Amino acid sequence: MIKQKKAVFLDRDGVINIDSGYIKKPEELKIYPFAAKAIKQLNNAGFLVVVVTNQSVIARNLCAESMLSLIHKKLETDLATNDAVIDAIYFCPHHPNIPMSKSNHKFVKECECRKPKPGMIFQAKADYDIDLSQSFIIGDSERDIQCGKNAGLVTIGVKTGNSVQGSVKPDVIKQDLLAAVDYILQIKSES
Ligand SMILES: [Mg+2]
Ligand SMILES: [Zn+2]
Repeated sequence: MIKQKKAVFLDRDGVINIDSGYIKKPEELKIYPFAAKAIKQLNNAGFLVVVVTNQSVIARNLCAESMLSLIHKKLETDLATNDAVIDAIYFCPHHPNIPMSKSNHKFVKECECRKPKPGMIFQAKADYDIDLSQSFIIGDSERDIQCGKNAGLVTIGVKTGNSVQGSVKPDVIKQDLLAAVDYILQIKSES
């Protein structure tokens, strides 16, 4: 039997990069200085690194899909220059209710991928044969944590970005992505 892979799922805004509101072009993406080091450590420890991000900028007609691709290209190339690799990026372009006049209507709908729904996690599991029970999610928002719980992941909140405000509590809270990764690697070394 081939061993299933372990993954660390990362929210994007407020975890890897500064959450400066709707990010609509590559120049607006400011990656935290510690992000590459953290992701590189996950790479070296054999975890798949999978970004799962709600990007209602598409449904809101603030950003085209082609522009979001450029934003993610910048994310990947900036990290790669520091030897950090993102294995996959999943995004939800939808939103359930945006006024018609302000929307890109084909993306205005109830979907299965917008966090807190676990659709992006389940898609990644299918694509990469991930053992979710051995995997983690790191997020700054309640909906990341709820998504992780819905998918059976260990949930880690970070104090950057939205600082996990709300009633849904993660399994553990750490200062930032780097501290969260240190925690994961410490558990791994003890098991
Ligand atoms: Mg976030
Ligand atoms: Zn969606």
